[in-house]
Amino acid sequence: MPTITPSFTSVYGPVRSWRWGQSLGIDPIGPLSTCSFNCVYCQLGEIEHQSDHRQLFIPTCKIQQDLQDLLAGQIDADQIDTVTLSGSGEPTLAQNLGEILALAKQLLHRPVGVLTNGSLLHNPTVCAELALADWVAVKLDAVSADGLRRVNRPVASCSLPQLWEGLQQFRQRYSGHLAIQTMLLSDWSASDQAEYSQQMQVLRPDEIQLNTPTRPCPLVHQLEARGNHLPDPAYPTRRLKPIQPELLQNWANQLERQLGIPVRYPLLNPTTQPNYST
Ligand code: SF4
Repeated sequence: MPTITPSFTSVYGPVRSWRWGQSLGIDPIGPLSTCSFNCVYCQLGEIEHQSDHRQLFIPTCKIQQDLQDLLAGQIDADQIDTVTLSGSGEPTLAQNLGEILALAKQLLHRPVGVLTNGSLLHNPTVCAELALADWVAVKLDAVSADGLRRVNRPVASCSLPQLWEGLQQFRQRYSGHLAIQTMLLSDWSASDQAEYSQQMQVLRPDEIQLNTPTRPCPLVHQLEARGNHLPDPAYPTRRLKPIQPELLQNWANQLERQLGIPVRYPLLNPTTQPNYST
């Protein structure tokens, strides 16, 4: 288990989320950013430990203590719309994912969700644990192996067919609210858009969320980057060019018409910065 400093807290926020409202964050990963992806737009910066190996990062008792401290002092559960497992990497890598979900529901009595990159959905244990979540948002940023490699830069063992198969298996078993989150770094070709639309037709998620990077990306991992965006962060960042809001809106409207599935996208202005890390 990685070393946890006394100052580290596994609970942060509430974060203002364009999709989920006031969201209290639980970080099951901890001080060292760990993910099976290393997305070019990640708000954690370059991932420090890239892995698809499940392990115990933060003991459940530490998360329980942090939640109880927060409820005893700084925050009222009524101020929270939802609880999100995300934080410093891919939450399904945490072996205690199921325990954390059960704990959060028991203590906070709020809908609890997970932002995941979907790379472990082929694992039946992960799917069974995720079934405890009220909502799950799965990242799907590419319809080609080349797109996956360029945008998400996954570990070598992760492939698009495996991601897609895991996602379909999860869809069949999961009775909660499933969202697909797609980050657009450029205008997709007509054939990529058609492929994506066909995949969504097969999958039938409860909603699709289209997004584009608007927040500055830290160059290296910053714990503060888990929470609300600071307009002028004190650490080095770089910016990616978002796509035009009209393109986002047009494709969202087109998909919604074609599929009959709600398609959401953020209003792109400085006060509604989306939170897009898993
Ligand atoms: S955006 Fe999410 S999936 Fe991508 S590297 Fe960051 S934590 Fe991992």
